Amino acid sequence: MKEKRNDDGFRLSDNRRRAESLQIARQNDEFKNEENKRRAEAHKIERRNDEFKKEENKRRAEAHKIERQNIEFRTQENDRRLNLLKIKREEEEYKEEERRRNASRMRLSRDKYENNFHLLKLNYESKIKEGPTHICSCCGGLWFEYSIEEFTVEMLRNKGLPKEFIDKVYYLKNTIIKLCVTCRKDIMLNKVPNLCLSNVLENKVITLEEAENLSYEKKCDLIRKDPVTCVRYFEHRLKCLWEILLAPCGPFEGNGLEDKYIRVEFQFRGSPHIHVCIRLKNAPKYDKNNPKSIEQCTVY
Ligand SMILES: [Zn+2]
Repeated sequence: MKEKRNDDGFRLSDNRRRAESLQIARQNDEFKNEENKRRAEAHKIERRNDEFKKEENKRRAEAHKIERQNIEFRTQENDRRLNLLKIKREEEEYKEEERRRNASRMRLSRDKYENNFHLLKLNYESKIKEGPTHICSCCGGLWFEYSIEEFTVEMLRNKGLPKEFIDKVYYLKNTIIKLCVTCRKDIMLNKVPNLCLSNVLENKVITLEEAENLSYEKKCDLIRKDPVTCVRYFEHRLKCLWEILLAPCGPFEGNGLEDKYIRVEFQFRGSPHIHVCIRLKNAPKYDKNNPKSIEQCTVY
């Protein structure tokens, strides 16, 4: 009996022991599971952190790049503004200089003739007879004396202008460079004036033959680009025409022009031409009832 009890007691305690160890094992398993889950979670978080950091780094790099570009942009922008300011200042200084020059010219002529009205009057009379006979070496325009300033190549070089630039703007080569106000203003700013002849003529001196062989389109283009020069040429041609018509050896043989009526027209708002009615010296009077006058007119 005692043995059986002992046996029973043993089994009982053994069972309990087993149950306990099972429970522990179960708890261990649960623990390990939990632990694994925790680790997985931690890994996941860490991975996310890594990705986040990578993203963050990329973002920062991008921001840096943008900032660098901004700085470069701002530097360029500042440079541009400074340059504009400089040009404006130079222009203002130039205008100021012009004003000073004009004022001093006025003062000089006032002082010169202060107490001599006769001299002043003479000067006025000779001045108003002056024409715009000074030719600008750059645009070829005709100017009054006071609009022109004279230079030498050295003087322009001393103002810091490059040789090739001077060569381009100084189109009409004379010993002295004469520059009109408008051209001078651009040239001093190192800019080729719009009306510079080398612009209009594409910086080429062409031969007479080449000029005669220019296409119609090319001629139209040149006329459109420089109507002022064309009108001046037209005026010149007319002056030459009057000279011929007035000459004793001209087509009217001494019965030169007595009077004329001219009308200048611009065909299709373009090329100028004239219609003219002329009255000649010694012309016989036409009378339809007088056969002699008809004869005289025919002979004439
Ligand atoms: Zn000019």
